Amino acid sequence: MIHVHQLWKRYGTRPVLQGVTLEIAEGERVALVGPNGSGKTTLIRCLLGLLGGEGTVRVGGHDPLHDHAAAAAHIAYVPQRAPNLPVPVSEIVGFWSRQRLEVPERLVEAAAALGLDVGSVWDRRFPELSGGMQQKLLAATALASRCPLLLLDEPTANLDPAARSAFFEALSKRNPRPTVLLSSHRLEELRHLVDRVVVLTDGRIAYDDDLSRFLANPTLAAAAGVELGVSLTH
Ligand code: ADP
Repeated sequence: MIHVHQLWKRYGTRPVLQGVTLEIAEGERVALVGPNGSGKTTLIRCLLGLLGGEGTVRVGGHDPLHDHAAAAAHIAYVPQRAPNLPVPVSEIVGFWSRQRLEVPERLVEAAAALGLDVGSVWDRRFPELSGGMQQKLLAATALASRCPLLLLDEPTANLDPAARSAFFEALSKRNPRPTVLLSSHRLEELRHLVDRVVVLTDGRIAYDDDLSRFLANPTLAAAAGVELGVSLTH
């Protein structure tokens, strides 16, 4: 589903991704972790075709930069920060429904499962919603889509604990079952969801293996800026 080979991305002369090579097969669920500034968002933006670099990037066999529409059809994306969408919620629901060829109720139900009553904010402009409500609506668009690949960039950062656990529950039950690449600092929340961890450090892959081996190595986890949580170390 995801094929990245020797990807380099520079801002000016400064390399931010340094020869990243990554294969993610269909159906895999992978956590992407690493300290702030290690290149996680940059890598996700390259997969989305929003940024170009040197090297090879394929999503579902398509080059997201040059064959954007074909690659984008595979992907549902939840950004770390909600974009400024200066329109009412009703327009976002309508746009999603037309773009994904799905009935709006599917999105409304996915939002309700995260604790957002879309009907009660139907006429409100998106920027007027709280950060948590915005993130719930965006997360619901990914959960309600049937895209085979979910790219999730800290999708629960603005959510309260109840909404976070509702999100992970909905994600684990999502039908059809997606391939997932999810960046997060809270690995404890992901232990039932992912089976593989990829660590980026200074734009390089420092670890790419089982979740269980990662969790057994607290030094690695600390270097990756990850909160393991007490329950994982016992
Ligand atoms: P992460 O998601 O792991 O926190 P990012 O991919 O957002 O890391 O950023 C990686 C590095 O690239 C950081 O040092 C950041 O400052 C830099 N960077 C990101 N976007 C830009 C940009 N548009 N111009 C210059 N530097 C950038």
